[in-house]
Amino acid sequence: MEYIKEIFKYLKRTSPAQNEFYQAAEEILISLKPLIEKYPQYKKHKIIERIVEPERQILFRVNWLDDNGEIQVNKGFRIEFNSALGPYKGGLRFHPSVNAGVIKFLGFEQIFKNALTGLQIGGGKGGSDFDPKGKSDNEIMRFCQAFMSELFRHIGASTDVPAGDIGVGAREIGYMFGMYKKLTNKYEGVLTGKSLNWGGSLARKEATGYGCVYFAKYMLADCGETLKDKKCLVSGSGNVAIYTIEKLYHLGALPITCSDSRGMILDEEGIDLDLLKELKENKRLSLSEYTKFKPSAKYTPIAEYEKGRNNVWSTPCYAAFPCATQNELNIKDAKKLLENGCKCVCEGANMPSTPDAVDLFVERKIAYGPGKAANAGGVSVSQLEMAQNASMLKWTFEEVDTKLDGIMENIFQTASTTAKEFNEPSNLVLGANIAGFRKVADAMIEQGLV
Ligand code: GLU
Repeated sequence: MEYIKEIFKYLKRTSPAQNEFYQAAEEILISLKPLIEKYPQYKKHKIIERIVEPERQILFRVNWLDDNGEIQVNKGFRIEFNSALGPYKGGLRFHPSVNAGVIKFLGFEQIFKNALTGLQIGGGKGGSDFDPKGKSDNEIMRFCQAFMSELFRHIGASTDVPAGDIGVGAREIGYMFGMYKKLTNKYEGVLTGKSLNWGGSLARKEATGYGCVYFAKYMLADCGETLKDKKCLVSGSGNVAIYTIEKLYHLGALPITCSDSRGMILDEEGIDLDLLKELKENKRLSLSEYTKFKPSAKYTPIAEYEKGRNNVWSTPCYAAFPCATQNELNIKDAKKLLENGCKCVCEGANMPSTPDAVDLFVERKIAYGPGKAANAGGVSVSQLEMAQNASMLKWTFEEVDTKLDGIMENIFQTASTTAKEFNEPSNLVLGANIAGFRKVADAMIEQGLV
């Protein structure tokens, strides 16, 4: 469609060198074609031209002192992308790969993901190129405080509510919350993913992983299948991967892999969840330690599997759950998965499959749950945390978990019904993109040109 191509060309010219953002934008814009053709109001109100431009982008310097007393300088980002449906909402990522294009892609995805949850939250994202790996606890604290000493003036419980993402968990949220409170003299739900002692929600930690498996459950139920007794591959070993593995066990599946930035574990007996939690949540160690406690498992360092791409995705499985990072599953991996009989790919990470891999999954009509639908459980429970903070109430684990399950079912139904409406019943990429976009676009039209 010429109109969409022109917008895309303009984007590339005016926001150069933002490859991940172009990738995310292209996927969405292409899916919108049938909607735009059928409903002229979106073109008339220039919704696409408006929605691809963040409402506000904040770029700032973060100075901090390392343990040797040396000055360190990092970049800080917060992109407040769209507030048509509610306060900007989305995580903060601390990782050396972070740059303006990565934050923009994540923020863009977040708009549609948050819309799909059916909750009143807009889209935003932020972070830093700071690398938490190998830093002492004091260094983490000083960095978080320095980061918040600028960010605090831009956020607030009804303005913009950051949370965690890669490299940002309860510890970092705690240090940032402390600094926010000190600077503003306000004890409010300005961050989610807080510790349970002081305003956090039960089941927030588990939410992205649990939600991803709930999504797979509904997707598979639709074709009369279940996860029971099925071999599953999981990548990653952070929060999302750990609780994906936990929920897979709850549903009787057998998760046999996980990975980190240095290598992967294949444990045919099933990943030892307690061991994984001990290594990653408590001790923050490399996965290479896993085989010391479980010698029957196999550890492959990344250097080895990069050569032959004998990686997480090369093992035969029924379902795959990419829970590590963007573009971790490429076309070769996708072909290998399908060759080995994989029937379901459900994304816990943001944009983990490359565009050609996504196209192949859609073309083969396997049960494919795109990240912006399948990993929306985390941000959904963040919104439930905001609701509990605002009402000064605390819900039980079961209450939150039941709500999460209901939200994931609803997201699946919305994406699936929308896919059917546009005559591509198994295409949840199209369904999720159109459903998310439509909700935001209609709100933007109703709220006028602001
Ligand atoms: N970083 C998570 C995501 O990608 C959670 C965001 C949030 O809870 O605000 O959706």
